[in-house]
Amino acid sequence: MMRGRILLLLIICFLTLTSFIAITIRVYFSGSISSTNKKIEEQIIGLHFFVKANKKVIAQTIIDSTRNYAISFLPDKEIIFDFFITGFGIDTILLKSYKTFPGEIITWNIELPIKYKKIAGKAVCPKCSKTDLTCPIIYNNPPLVKPVVKNKDTLVRCIVNNKYYADSDVHSLISANWYCSRDNIKY
Ligand SMILES: [Zn+2]
Repeated sequence: MMRGRILLLLIICFLTLTSFIAITIRVYFSGSISSTNKKIEEQIIGLHFFVKANKKVIAQTIIDSTRNYAISFLPDKEIIFDFFITGFGIDTILLKSYKTFPGEIITWNIELPIKYKKIAGKAVCPKCSKTDLTCPIIYNNPPLVKPVVKNKDTLVRCIVNNKYYADSDVHSLISANWYCSRDNIKY
């Protein structure tokens, strides 16, 4: 009788404890990065491919000559996971944002440049999925209109003729063409 009670108590304790433990499953991403454009294909080697969540880099890799990548991370309480590329002469470009994952093992073959969805001629921001605060990036040297940034109010940069003026005239084939001032990202 006593044994039975102890066992029951132990089971209750176990169930109570485990109900508080959040089960996190590691997510594995892999695939290739390619382009039908020969010049872009050459630029892929050496690109820095990384995932950011909650303003922290949670996974990263450098693309080698195989042009394949494999990264993994343990999602915590982050709401959104942003996949970026950056490299010599190109800005940090947001490729895609994930709010949920289709599984633990995900194959994602990336073709550059990314063909972002467009609404009324404007590319949809891959993070907020909107176009209301997005504008095209203009590369020129010297900038036609010097962007004014007050109190990190990035919105101002977008308002100048409804264009975002890049700080440089370096415009590679992978360079971002759009800017979202809501998220302060280029894509
Ligand atoms: Zn956005």
